[in-house]
Amino acid sequence: MAELNEIKIFAPATVANVSCGFDVLGFCLDTVGDEMIVRMSPEKGVRITKIAGSDLPLETHKNVAGVSAMALLETLNPNCGFEIEIYKNIKPGSGIGSSAASAAGSVFAINELLGRPLNKTQLTAYAMKGEALASQCEHADNIAPCIFGGFTLVKGVKPLEILELPTPSHLFATIIHPQIEIKTSEARAILPKEIPLSNAIEQWANVGSLVHALHTSNYNLLSASLKDIIVEPYRKQLIPEFDTLKSKTLEAGALGVGISGSGPSIFALCNGETLADKVAETMYSVYQKSGIDFNIHISPINKQGIKVI
Ligand code: ADP
Repeated sequence: MAELNEIKIFAPATVANVSCGFDVLGFCLDTVGDEMIVRMSPEKGVRITKIAGSDLPLETHKNVAGVSAMALLETLNPNCGFEIEIYKNIKPGSGIGSSAASAAGSVFAINELLGRPLNKTQLTAYAMKGEALASQCEHADNIAPCIFGGFTLVKGVKPLEILELPTPSHLFATIIHPQIEIKTSEARAILPKEIPLSNAIEQWANVGSLVHALHTSNYNLLSASLKDIIVEPYRKQLIPEFDTLKSKTLEAGALGVGISGSGPSIFALCNGETLADKVAETMYSVYQKSGIDFNIHISPINKQGIKVI
């Protein structure tokens, strides 16, 4: 069999935080994602040869896909280089893991082309090096669900430990992306440095019960756990119509609604596709009055994560 020297992959969008799980929880989407083509080249190093769909830098050191790939090559030091083409469908700064998809995509594809020397946790660690370029800190809450699929929990970063959580089979996500810009740095700067112990207790009880709900496919408990009393009260101020959108979508039957990552995207989790469609219609009717452009995605939870296509 001829040796594989080119690969095309799908790098999915992801939702980080999932209400109560700030910086630790995330899940993977199925219907939104980037495509990338990565090929081996005789010349060593990493070159980004094409980017379609977004105005992002081609320079290796300015693009998260290039930075994560270079970090990987420093360790593996293969006797070849790599060319990367990025077909962007996830808008940068949307809050659904645009940078994470590119950072994970390049290391996943190179690992496949080299015969899979590294496991998923090791790939996550290299992708985090790329993610750090976009957000000035290494974090895995989008990278982990992109690479592992389903729901993930970042148990720790030093050493890096990712837990894969089960996905209840009827779960669907509806995401609205208002086309406004929220800088991740701004969304972090408005957060309090200290929180009352009573709030911390409520939040970690919700993280625990959310994990239990995922393990037992308990949709009522899932709904009761999808609460964020620590971060959302601050960040929602950056997203026009957040409160109206949340109350209307909950009325429409969503299990829970929250800010995706650092926003501006807002996610809802729903029991079944019919409800996810209804929630999308509700989001549409609330936001079309706002005068802000937006798009809406409906997706099952992607249990496989990033894949070769
Ligand atoms: P998101 O949550 O949508 O990933 P971030 O703010 O984390 O948004 O990342 C977007 C930032 O990363 C932008 O400043 C963008 O220019 C930069 N960036 C660099 N390379 C890429 C890439 N390949 N894909 C997306 N964003 C990139």
